[in-house]
Amino acid sequence: MKILKSIIQFCLLTITKILLIIPILFNTILGQEITSSKAPYLVILGNVQDAGSPHMGCEKACCKELFKTPDPSRKVVSIGIVDPNNKKYWMIEASPDFSTQSRLLKDISNFEHSKTPDGIFLTHAHIGHYSGLMYLGKESFNSDNVPVYAMTRMKGFLIQNGPWSQLFKLENIKINNIDHEKIFSLSNKITITPFLVPHRDEFSETVGFKIKGPNKSILFIPDIDKWGKWNKSLLTEIKKVDLALVDGTFYDAEEVNHRDISEIPHPFVVETIELFKSEKKKLKSKIKFIHLNHTNPLLNDNSNATKKINEQGFSVAHFKEIITL
Ligand SMILES: [Zn+2]
Ligand SMILES: [Zn+2]
Ligand SMILES: [Zn+2]
Repeated sequence: MKILKSIIQFCLLTITKILLIIPILFNTILGQEITSSKAPYLVILGNVQDAGSPHMGCEKACCKELFKTPDPSRKVVSIGIVDPNNKKYWMIEASPDFSTQSRLLKDISNFEHSKTPDGIFLTHAHIGHYSGLMYLGKESFNSDNVPVYAMTRMKGFLIQNGPWSQLFKLENIKINNIDHEKIFSLSNKITITPFLVPHRDEFSETVGFKIKGPNKSILFIPDIDKWGKWNKSLLTEIKKVDLALVDGTFYDAEEVNHRDISEIPHPFVVETIELFKSEKKKLKSKIKFIHLNHTNPLLNDNSNATKKINEQGFSVAHFKEIITL
């Protein structure tokens, strides 16, 4: 009888302990979930080359139908950076699709925020990368001192030339300097570092960015001449980061009617792939192509080109794709 009593007592005690532990465990799991959902992230707001898709005047199969039935996922290159903990977000590039992209970023962020980003970082003065700033002006949103970050020449270009100079004079934007390889803190969790890259620099220098979060660092190089013209090795730089969003403007020579590919001022996707031919799939999987020309078969998920690069480990940066930092 005594033994039975102590067995019952033991069982009751164990059950009580389990019941006490469950909520603690549940809270821990739930807590982790909440924390991880507050991790900073990048979001791809567009992956198309400056002139978009459909491309003005294009009569080819790539654009023909898109003039009649536009594809809402075809947006010009832009990246959103979100820090949910600090309730802040930034954009890299102000593309011609800026109006819808800044709205999309606000919707995705899903926290209370003004209608403009906490900062806009610019790579260079080609139309697809800065012309969206016009939507911050008097004829449009008429924003109040939105911080724009640019290197010296780009900053000078905006201040000295209309209509951009008006944005500056009317304080729709305020322009801040960023410097080559100087780390800039966006928040206590994220930094962004600009670096110079070779490109046809008529009005400004051209920069790429390295974005670093608590767990990952990501390279963003939407426009660059051939990799060989850069004073760094792409291979070495890729090894230092977790992911790289790189210039994939043209896929191969066929796309540019077999013009001499060495004369086209972009690294062809097939040329970039070639650089990695003796590398492991794991390294290749760090590369995502972005800034795709309207003719690029990588814009089509089902094309042979897309299948081919995917098999090797490479991929395409997709509209609305989220990458945790
Ligand atoms: Zn471009
Ligand atoms: Zn086209
Ligand atoms: Zn460019």
